[in-house]
Amino acid sequence: MARPDAVLRFAPSPNGHLHLGHAYSALTNERLAKARGGRLLLRMEDIDQSRCRATFEDSILRDLEWLGIAFDPLIRRQSEHFTDYARALDQLADLGLLYPCFCTRGEIARAVAADPSVPRDPDGVALYPGTCRHLAQAERDRRLELGTPPAFRLDMAKALALVNLNALQRGLGPMAWREFGEGIAARDVAAHPERWGDVILARRDIPTSYHVSVVIDDALQGITAVVRGEDLQEATSLHLLLQRLLDLPTPDYHHHGLLRDAQGLKLSKSTHARALHAVRDDGITPSALRQQLGFG
Ligand code: GLU
Repeated sequence: MARPDAVLRFAPSPNGHLHLGHAYSALTNERLAKARGGRLLLRMEDIDQSRCRATFEDSILRDLEWLGIAFDPLIRRQSEHFTDYARALDQLADLGLLYPCFCTRGEIARAVAADPSVPRDPDGVALYPGTCRHLAQAERDRRLELGTPPAFRLDMAKALALVNLNALQRGLGPMAWREFGEGIAARDVAAHPERWGDVILARRDIPTSYHVSVVIDDALQGITAVVRGEDLQEATSLHLLLQRLLDLPTPDYHHHGLLRDAQGLKLSKSTHARALHAVRDDGITPSALRQQLGFG
């Protein structure tokens, strides 16, 4: 059904060249934006300034232009909006939901190795054992004074308790999102943010995180439908939790299947997926590529 106010977005990170998997995601966004009679925005998720490069952004723009995908002309670059993310983090801090974490990767690995029963997050990484959650305020102040830059973690138990209380008070239902597909009925999916434990919401080296930035941008840009790969489906639980904590609307979501290589691995830089510009240099036309990817 066409919804004139539908707004979708494609949100690559300019830390490398686009590959066929990105093309598939961008084309899926284009098709669904058209089906909903809506607009399609382009966002550069470039909070990690040590890995993102202007040359990669140029290359992404060239590839998308070549593919013939029409985006709204205004591009949002996350690196220009750190103050928006800081405001959200302040809100969470004011709610008493953040704590500084001084642990190094090595310290966490040792704590986890000492306790094999530590559960894993959906990515298979051991949940943070909560070491710094228990630090006394005086000890936190002492370490901050020493100049050790901390990461900031979400106190998941406190966050869930607050969201549940608010839901009771406001008569809201359980945390769930509307998952829509192409040619299948939409369904509600229950969110399970607890699977992520005390996640990092502001990194030691970057004053935000993917989770905070994406949730803030989706709200500020009025995104009504998020279309992205199924590898991010588990992260959506966390995004719903942040939306509830920050009083932001929850868009609909469509997590599309991923292009995989012969070994069944999703296409990515680490599996040496072919860059789109290399495919283009081979002389394939945009319409032939669209056809091959199922968008003929
Ligand atoms: N920047 C993310 C990526 O390139 C996409 C995040 C999203 O669509 O929510 O994988």
